[in-house]
Amino acid sequence: MTTETTETSTVVIVGAGVAGLTLGNLLLRKGIDCVILEKRGREYVEQRQRAGVIDTRAARMFREWGLEDRVIGGVPFDPVLNFRIDGEDRPLTLTPDHHGDGRFCPQQVLVRNLIDVFVADGGDLRFDAEDVTPHDIADEASPHVRYRDATGSPRTIHCEFVAGCDGDHGVSRTAIPDGILTRYSHDYGFVWLTALAEVPPRHQTLMALHPRGFAGQFGRGPHASRFYLQCSPDSSLSEWPDERIRDELETRFGEPVAARGRIISRQLVPLRGVVHSPMRHGRLYLLGDAAHIVPPMSAKGMNLALHDAELLANAIVHHQENDRDTTLLDAYSPTCLRHVWNYQAFATWWTELIHSAGDASYRGDFHHHLARADLARLYESGTANRLLSEFMAGLN
Ligand SMILES: Cc1cc2nc3c(=O)[nH]c(=O)nc-3n(C[C@H](O)[C@H](O)[C@H](O)COP(=O)(O)OP(=O)(O)OC[C@H]3O[C@@H](n4cnc5c(N)ncnc54)[C@H](O)[C@@H]3O)c2cc1C
Repeated sequence: MTTETTETSTVVIVGAGVAGLTLGNLLLRKGIDCVILEKRGREYVEQRQRAGVIDTRAARMFREWGLEDRVIGGVPFDPVLNFRIDGEDRPLTLTPDHHGDGRFCPQQVLVRNLIDVFVADGGDLRFDAEDVTPHDIADEASPHVRYRDATGSPRTIHCEFVAGCDGDHGVSRTAIPDGILTRYSHDYGFVWLTALAEVPPRHQTLMALHPRGFAGQFGRGPHASRFYLQCSPDSSLSEWPDERIRDELETRFGEPVAARGRIISRQLVPLRGVVHSPMRHGRLYLLGDAAHIVPPMSAKGMNLALHDAELLANAIVHHQENDRDTTLLDAYSPTCLRHVWNYQAFATWWTELIHSAGDASYRGDFHHHLARADLARLYESGTANRLLSEFMAGLN
């Protein structure tokens, strides 16, 4: 018979994405013991390609915690958004000093570096953890997390806090009893076909606003690009063979975009905004995509996850160092949610502007003209441009 192993740790972190790994590293630097449980293998986690932009706020966070040199890769964020509007190049320069520290850093580079640093500094990171389930998470209870390790043996870790960093499809949120959380959501009514291709980017960002819909090319390192095509919500991947993707990109960009390189992977991503509120139940705290989703157009999903991780790390450190004072822990959910809704507002405005400014059929002619007026203001008004720049940089 297999015997169950029982351990203790101050914090159990479920999920080794950007939120979980950042929280783990920050806690480790303050000497607070934690265990990170990840259901996938290390190789899979280190190769998962997604986001590409670390904003100024997040870069500052890593600097202030003494991690900048060890975890942030990539190159400084280019303060020019390269638009092609009606077939013409219309670069939009962001306001100087409002984007200074942002980095174009592929998410898998950040994840790889966070894993290396955590492990090198003695952190406890367990891959291939199956059937992870938080128990007794209510305030008055003593929480514990059960799982089966890579050999299939059952384990239980007793802890003070559980950090649910396991994304939108994880188990942490589902451990919260029904009726506690409210789910707010908005469906943008279209999907992005995203294709990762072996195509060196000409610019960090290239975005075409075209009557057939939005097209984007975003650098993912020196040799690869992620392409995006706005499609109808009932699209299926089988309708999009490689040649059709390349032809459509060329049509919308109005020029060959060197997109003839090998397409490595493709995916359909519905654009939606979701917020689960509150972001805490008892001793369980939700972070990152487990609590909120923003459309990738805003480039904020990863950055919101990093923001949550820093707030929770500060709250746990404060609790441990100040005679179990819960002031910051109590403030965690309302503080995060204020920031999240601010960025949902930005993401909604920016996503609808960019998609309506090209494709008038998306929200109709009226919204098409509104979007064109909004876009023109970004070129002509310093105030409008500064506001966009501040959101891009994560400064408000
Ligand atoms: C195509 C695409 C492009 C994007 N572009 C950007 C961008 O440019 N900028 C930006 O900021 N954001 C972007 N995002 C969003 C960004 O990738 C996410 O917001 C970010 O990954 C959230 O981090 P996280 O740590 O909360 O979740 P995740 O990165 O999803 O990590 C969750 C982890 O939990 C693990 N897990 C899941 N279930 C369990 C379980 N039961 N037990 C244990 N572990 C579990 C998962 O394997 C994973 O490792 C993009 C997303 C997509 C899909």
